[in-house]
Amino acid sequence: MTSLVQHTMTEPRVDCDLPGPRSAELLARQERRESNARTYPRHLPIAPAEAFGSFIRDVDGNVFIDFLAGAGVLSLGHNHPELVRSVIAQLGLLTHGLDFPTPVKDDFIDAQLSMLPAEMRDRTKVHFCGPTGANAVEAAVKLCKIATGRGDIVTFQGGFHGSTHAAMALSGLVAPKTAVPNGVPGTHFFPFSYCTRCPLDLSPTTCSTNCATYLERSLTDGNGGIPLPAAVILEPVQGEGGVVPATADFVRRLRAITRELGILLIVDEVQTGCGRTGTWFAFEQYGIEPDVIVASKALSGIGTPIAVILYDEKLDTWASGAHIGTFRGNQLAFAAGAEAVRIVRRDDVLGNVRRRGAQISARLTPLMADPWVREVRGRGLMWGVELADPDTGRPAGDFAEAVQSRALRRGLIVERGGREDGVVRILPPLNVTADVVETACSILVDAIETGHP
Ligand code: PMP
Repeated sequence: MTSLVQHTMTEPRVDCDLPGPRSAELLARQERRESNARTYPRHLPIAPAEAFGSFIRDVDGNVFIDFLAGAGVLSLGHNHPELVRSVIAQLGLLTHGLDFPTPVKDDFIDAQLSMLPAEMRDRTKVHFCGPTGANAVEAAVKLCKIATGRGDIVTFQGGFHGSTHAAMALSGLVAPKTAVPNGVPGTHFFPFSYCTRCPLDLSPTTCSTNCATYLERSLTDGNGGIPLPAAVILEPVQGEGGVVPATADFVRRLRAITRELGILLIVDEVQTGCGRTGTWFAFEQYGIEPDVIVASKALSGIGTPIAVILYDEKLDTWASGAHIGTFRGNQLAFAAGAEAVRIVRRDDVLGNVRRRGAQISARLTPLMADPWVREVRGRGLMWGVELADPDTGRPAGDFAEAVQSRALRRGLIVERGGREDGVVRILPPLNVTADVVETACSILVDAIETGHP
């Protein structure tokens, strides 16, 4: 079955207007029966039927390059045959294990700890969370509050941490919060080092990471208004916020001030983790050590849900049952996740991420000559093209939407994010080939260059 699909999907091909007739039927049924909160099919009007590697086929037979990859979940592409085999083998043994120790879970923990920087391995503890990024964010925040006895959390503008109540409160997007009154108190937003749209209206040539200075001064000012927080939560590269990598100076100074004041640093690596940026975790590239790591999406490599927090054993202060959940023992995810780590090592997948990232950079950076392209930026295999009106400088969300739909019609699935959804984003599988990257970049460049408002 897998090999049949593999052999019939090697390049994109769209044969009809989108959505095709069978997709349109399913989309209409979905609209009638599913929640109004659904998102992706509104902008990507297809009904997927099967997929392999970097390709997905809809029910009308159209084939797309999938550079959304399950929102970054499918790190080794759709249905990687070895991951499929490991899941099938586990399926016959044990599938659901609550939080009991099992051989396959032990294997998974070994694999995960082995990917940490050497100096962290022996003193890191793992907590298995409910299987979503948001649940792991909740766990991280609770742990930091319990360990410090403090209640306040610092977070950053433009960040995204999930849709549950506290994770939403920590996220920058205002609209979803406005609709749900009485958010989580003790949440403090600070500017992020988003230099192309500097929140302090400075320019990189004249600033000295004033956003970090502002944070330092606020936290040390007895009149600054914020009680000493339990934790600061940071995405090393803001993903939903439009692929904005934090600057090195910002992250190092943030680490220095949090250490000095005894504030815990949580890195939310739900999107950046498991190799996405070219190292196993993105924080490694900043030469810092966080106190808590949040990981989820690509942990199993094939979409079997799982989420963890990894933290220094000194923080292991919570009581039995402090963060429980029925679905914390997905043995299929453990089996796939352990296998995924072996494949990442064996196939030098991180090397591929860096090489394909360099290829994407070379292909997309010239777009910056286009007046509608404000910036092309990324790390590893996480890239964004920020579009803005050349006259007003405002984010060009409508243009980005048109680019997304033009790319889809030519056989490429891309995502959007950032302010007013004006950033076109790609999250290819980490084992994507140079040929597929080349085809996808051609489609994307063409969709941008030929589609100006
Ligand atoms: N944190 C980050 C950085 C994310 O990108 C996401 C999801 N896009 C989440 C948390 C939430 O993860 P989930 O949707 O699995 O709850």
